[in-house]
Amino acid sequence: MTGHPPRILGLETEYAIVADRIESVPGEDSAPLTPAESVTELFRGTRAHSRSTNRYLSNGGRLYVDLGSHPEYATAECASPRDAVLQDRAGEAMLRDLLTAANERLAGQNIRLHILKTNTDSADATFGCHENYQVARSTIEALDPGFISFLATRPILTGVGGVADGVHVLSRRAFHIQSVMSPDPTRSRPLIVTREEAHADASRFGRLQVTYGDSNIADTATEMKLRLTAAVLDFLEDGGSLADLELADPITALHDTSRLGPKAPVSLASGTTMTALAMQEEVLRRCAGQADLADVRFTLERLRAGDHGSISRSIDWLCKRALLDQAAARYGVPLSSPVIARIDLAYHDIDRDRGLAERLRRSGNMTRLVEDVEIEKACHTPPADTRAAVRGQFIAEADRLELSTSVSWTHVRLDSPPHPQIDLMDANASEDGRVDALIETMRALPPQNRSALARLKAGLGPLV
Ligand code: ATP
Ligand code: MG
Ligand code: MG
Repeated sequence: MTGHPPRILGLETEYAIVADRIESVPGEDSAPLTPAESVTELFRGTRAHSRSTNRYLSNGGRLYVDLGSHPEYATAECASPRDAVLQDRAGEAMLRDLLTAANERLAGQNIRLHILKTNTDSADATFGCHENYQVARSTIEALDPGFISFLATRPILTGVGGVADGVHVLSRRAFHIQSVMSPDPTRSRPLIVTREEAHADASRFGRLQVTYGDSNIADTATEMKLRLTAAVLDFLEDGGSLADLELADPITALHDTSRLGPKAPVSLASGTTMTALAMQEEVLRRCAGQADLADVRFTLERLRAGDHGSISRSIDWLCKRALLDQAAARYGVPLSSPVIARIDLAYHDIDRDRGLAERLRRSGNMTRLVEDVEIEKACHTPPADTRAAVRGQFIAEADRLELSTSVSWTHVRLDSPPHPQIDLMDANASEDGRVDALIETMRALPPQNRSALARLKAGLGPLV
């Protein structure tokens, strides 16, 4: 989108949490804690578990307990796909720190928690990974049906792999998706949600939420997913059309793509049939001018050639497939074996030792985009070029001064003493004079304005 500000992106990642025994107890097979109890243990002593709106962080993101008792991390608004990867990995790192602390507390009870960056667990519950794209109001109001065709066949690039009914599939989450679009993302599990709050000036913008996507483990897969999808939106907003690629039945096409892979035949509304791979090739051909998509082209070429060696470190479903096939051969078990299911889950385990991702990265079998020091920094540093920079600075200062505030994606407010709310409607604006002035005011406040607890800690009087 030359001449336009960079497109705003954000990722929401839901994590599964499970408890098991460190040492097995004879006759005791059930999980020692329910997911609700596990999540309470995880967040013990942090405010992420409270019902307050203060779940926004000094890096501009949001960490909270979602409905259904699982942790969710929403990245700050990012102006580049790489930043979104970095912020998402920062959320994962924060959860890992909470996990380590919780497991130290629980060790005496012979209980250990696991956090999985997965879209499905062993009981086939499903967890979301939502991509958010700021788009023009008109884009969302008259969404090109070809965008749906792109999403339905995208798992050949972005699927995280797994096994269903004893065979490899590209995405298990795909089978939970039942509708194209829905106002309620939990009920009928749609591909996209278009009716949610814009978190911006809603007369001009909409927030397109892609609610079907896998939580990618390979950084490059996450980055490519966001860059390619944003390029498709750029193409549409520059007047391009994919309407002739409309699918006859997008949900069937999605399920078939996940089950059959790149060669899956998909039927168009026009009556013709093409493969999922040909659909992605055609979308790429049209959108190629919008961004550097050389890696997408290379990946599609390799998929067409059936030569996976050079892309299995960056494409999750191929990386996992190789891993599971090796394990099945080594242990002499079928893919339907519980042994394989455990290795599949270990691919998603965020623990550095028990999880496989870090090992694969260290051994050069999974590409890495962001280094640990950068991730560490991103835990308390917002993206510099979006509204998140304003929010992050406000939160960091309020935290330091222990002042009570209210924050959302689109506002900040000082509550002690009461001040008028400052609305932040422009997600691309990384500076705000009003917030700078408010921060100056905060710094000049006498300590009496600090929270009662903070005052008690500072020896400034009793709790009131
Ligand atoms: P919930 O998930 O609780 O139902 P929600 O969809 O508003 O509500 P959040 O979990 O709060 O979701 O996450 C919102 C996501 O939208 C974040 O990743 C954030 O970075 C992103 N976002 C914020 N402002 C915009 C915007 N103007 N355009 C696109 N994405 C945005
Ligand atoms: Mg959310
Ligand atoms: Mg959401």
